[in-house]
Amino acid sequence: MRKLLYVVLDGLGDLPTPELNGKTPLEAAKTPNMDSLARKGKTGLMYPVRKGVAPESDVAVISILGYDPFKYHPARGVIEAVGAGLDFKDGELALRCNFATVDESGKFIVDRRVGRNLTTEEAGKLAEAINREVKLAYKPSEFIFKNTVAHRAVLVIRRLEGKLSGKITNVDPAYSKTLEGFGVAKSQPQTKIEKCFPLDDSEEARVAAELVNEFIEKSYKVLKNHELNLRRVKEGKLPANFILARDAGDTVPKFPSFQELYKVKFGCMADMPVERGIALLCGMEEVPLPQSTGDLKADYSLRAEKTLEALESLDGVYIHIKGPDEPGHDGRAKEKMRIVELIDEFYFGKLLAKLNLEETLIVVTADHATPCVIKAHTDDPVPLLISGGGVLADEVDVFSEKACRKGKLGIINGSELMPLLIKLLKD
Ligand code: ZN
Ligand code: ZN
Repeated sequence: MRKLLYVVLDGLGDLPTPELNGKTPLEAAKTPNMDSLARKGKTGLMYPVRKGVAPESDVAVISILGYDPFKYHPARGVIEAVGAGLDFKDGELALRCNFATVDESGKFIVDRRVGRNLTTEEAGKLAEAINREVKLAYKPSEFIFKNTVAHRAVLVIRRLEGKLSGKITNVDPAYSKTLEGFGVAKSQPQTKIEKCFPLDDSEEARVAAELVNEFIEKSYKVLKNHELNLRRVKEGKLPANFILARDAGDTVPKFPSFQELYKVKFGCMADMPVERGIALLCGMEEVPLPQSTGDLKADYSLRAEKTLEALESLDGVYIHIKGPDEPGHDGRAKEKMRIVELIDEFYFGKLLAKLNLEETLIVVTADHATPCVIKAHTDDPVPLLISGGGVLADEVDVFSEKACRKGKLGIINGSELMPLLIKLLKD
């Protein structure tokens, strides 16, 4: 059987941008390697979930890995806890957290991500202090607070007697929660911090909300006076003095695994705990990656090497590359273009030099669009290419949103992709 390499470039999709003379970052970027894949293969467009849905990454990834996100919708908190390697069981409470900066009053957010310059190492020291000094007293319980990448973290609380319910509101005012439990980014976020409230009258939800509020208050006291934060302020940086928590969950989702569904053994390579968590829940095994160094040339080259290595022993590899999403959120079109070029040269360039395209089916796409002119995820379809592994070419010879519109694959929904790939693999 052929092997499958499934490459997802986070937030790659975009819209025409004045800064790039009406081109999208992908269109404006020099991408000879992805273009050659498009030329040799078939292209199309994909709504990661379906038309009209602007998804968060978690919902999108669940969908493009072949699961109906309306049926399998674990809370983001649980996905991140699994992705962070924490042991999580039904009846415990998991929340996605951000280190953030609040003002003197402790009531208003100054920056949701501590100016995006909190290092993973700094976050680790603060997390250590929280785990050491905060004691939850409202009900007998214990917690683990784990920082993941930069300002991101996960909180898991377990009760010593009884269960906790994830049916509680978000403390993070930038996100609301739908009835199905999806986290949704608000278009006009408030800066006033909200208390956590139960969403139903169960004892489990009431206790969960109280424990979260207690954790937030007590961790604030630890962070406010932590010497690392005092030093950051002296250096003119924002202090990481508050924990914003959101997307609580209490249940481990039961995804039918890739082995059960397709009889294949897949590995995942992802920088972020959310994508890693979903892949692990789908039954993929983790291909260990060192933390990204920030030197993108080295990071992407290393990922190319690791991909080739992993493909030797597995039926397929899913790799999720975070690069293009962040400049999309920040509205920096030229930076997004530059990152796409680096991915093309240092990931695809190194990879294609050694990859046997006859034996490997390769897919390149995105989990959603993050257009620089919108600075948020949108419902626009993303470009898609399927190449190698004996796939016949269509007429399209470059990889871009505009060119892929003319591709033979047409416009598909995210959950249709995986079955299509498996069919091509086994044909
Ligand atoms: Zn994403
Ligand atoms: Zn994003």
